[in-house]
Amino acid sequence: MIVNSCLGTDILGNKIDGKYWSVGYCKELDRYLLLIYVAWIASYERCYLISKQDYELCKTDIEKFEDKYKSEISQNGKICFTKNFIGAGALRDYDGANKFQSVIGSTSVINCFQHFNFYNDVLYARIITKDKDRVLLVPPLQAIQTEKGYDFPLRKTAFLYQDICYGIWEDFILKCNSESCRGREFYFDNSKIPPNEKYETLCPYCKSLLIRKKI
Ligand SMILES: [Zn+2]
Repeated sequence: MIVNSCLGTDILGNKIDGKYWSVGYCKELDRYLLLIYVAWIASYERCYLISKQDYELCKTDIEKFEDKYKSEISQNGKICFTKNFIGAGALRDYDGANKFQSVIGSTSVINCFQHFNFYNDVLYARIITKDKDRVLLVPPLQAIQTEKGYDFPLRKTAFLYQDICYGIWEDFILKCNSESCRGREFYFDNSKIPPNEKYETLCPYCKSLLIRKKI
């Protein structure tokens, strides 16, 4: 699902006095979110998924909430990029080399960063690439601390694009419109199918047969 608006515009949130974060329910994503304001060259927000229970907790016990999300709220190095981190308003929090978008970005558009794609509970950055203007979805950086260092869970479902950034191709995300799935999305790698050719695949959820044409 492509999300056009800036992060946070749909938050019917509570801004809490003296805090640089807020919580709220995002209508467009149908999720409860914690938004952290980051002061940078241009200020922007980091977006975290929280449960409804934690949203309620914030209303009744702010200190307990702050303790539970202290890594996220800390803005401390990689520590703040927990598994709850789903996206941000700046590409510096996305999983690529510094200024990666200037290397892969298409020259046919002024800004190659075109909105977000909310897929699998993550706000992927949509980058229009030089690769025939194909859209690459770059995951936000999630870095989970382990005994050996860091684990990057969102890299597991992505590939390394030209050693510049991680990503998945947007046209590999298929939508199932069956009665039970109602637009549910799944990933299908159709790279081996020749252009303009029809192909079939089963929806992994409802098992209905989908017929698509390779673009
Ligand atoms: Zn389905």
